[in-house]
Amino acid sequence: MKILVINCGSSSLKYQLIDMENEEVLAKGLCERIGIAGSKLTHKPAGKDVLEKEEAMPDHQVAVKLVLAALQDKVYGVISDVNEIAAVGHRVLHAGKYYSDSIVVNEDVKKVVRDCFDLGPLHNPANLIGIEACEAAMPGIPNVAVFDTAFHQTMPEKAYMYAIPYEYYEKYDIRRYGFHGTSHRFVSKRTIEFGKLNPDNSKVIVCHLGNGGSISAVVNGKCVDTSMGLTPLEGLIMGTRSGDLDPAVVQYIANKEGKDVNEVINILNKKSGIFGISGVSSDFRDVQKAQREGNKRADIAVEAFVYRVAKYIGAYVAAMNGVDAITFTAGVGENDAVIRNAICSYLGYLGVTVDAKKNELRGEEVEISGADSKVKVYVIPTNEELAIARETKALI
Ligand code: AMP
Repeated sequence: MKILVINCGSSSLKYQLIDMENEEVLAKGLCERIGIAGSKLTHKPAGKDVLEKEEAMPDHQVAVKLVLAALQDKVYGVISDVNEIAAVGHRVLHAGKYYSDSIVVNEDVKKVVRDCFDLGPLHNPANLIGIEACEAAMPGIPNVAVFDTAFHQTMPEKAYMYAIPYEYYEKYDIRRYGFHGTSHRFVSKRTIEFGKLNPDNSKVIVCHLGNGGSISAVVNGKCVDTSMGLTPLEGLIMGTRSGDLDPAVVQYIANKEGKDVNEVINILNKKSGIFGISGVSSDFRDVQKAQREGNKRADIAVEAFVYRVAKYIGAYVAAMNGVDAITFTAGVGENDAVIRNAICSYLGYLGVTVDAKKNELRGEEVEISGADSKVKVYVIPTNEELAIARETKALI
């Protein structure tokens, strides 16, 4: 069975075709600059040359057609007929309060995606366009929506309510939702399997540390709290996002700089985080290089990042009244032994120790805690595309 996984942005479309017999990626690629001059398809079939094609893509409809043509191309293709694709799994950002799981797309599901445009203004419209483009190009082939927010829908009210007038929750659904849910679901499940934890009696903290970052507290496989909120701006210090701050900062900057609220929020999303503090880059590798060269602001950025993660871990240990395993994932979490070590050095009170040699391993599932550690610490590579493909397969 072959599953096509699609992740649509406002001007991009990423895809992977996965053979579910062995979970191998048959081809993956990217359409860039959809709706803008200079659109380009990059198609990477496994074991074959890369196809790069500059061709006008006025909309996602055309992009989907080009992807299907590339997948069936005589030279660069990996299938001979579109009907070899059993289903399409779509990454969709926001399902509001409506879905706690993935779901086969029908008119009701599309309405929910549409109703959540306000909550995910950059992503949900593009996600819906992607779904409709696939329906048009592949009639009869089922589409499955896999939501970034779904895994966190098990959070209790006390974790998701903001302490603002209740009427705003009732009128506008303003509450905490959480994101990166596909990754948190995949990694917490793998932690339980890999660490041989009791699925019905387990407390896991997942640290998804990439360019965007979030942490979740997972009891018996169910999310009870997570660090992102109404939008992905809340929580950790990220590549360019501020994470938590006093909301009055928005008003203060707006008044001092003569900006409106939208402009300040844009700054908090795009010019803040480790980029904002260091002034160097949003990429941890660049910031750490600057640190080695003696850049003081780079030091502060990394130390503040690590400190925030450690504080969230402490909060979630309290929320769960204990923890069995802490797992690192995503770009920084999977690759950066120095950051992992720095975070774990705050966790002595939990009896956490790190095995320095194992902490250097890369690209595989590994326990990095020391033999005497009271809490297991793991690195589990996340794979959101595979998780989407698995959920799609399960539903059809
Ligand atoms: P992601 O959003 O999951 O792709 O993660 C991107 C972040 O991971 C960037 O800040 C990168 O600097 C960081 N990253 C990726 N590879 C490495 C690496 N080998 N060592 C340290 N950081 C890395």
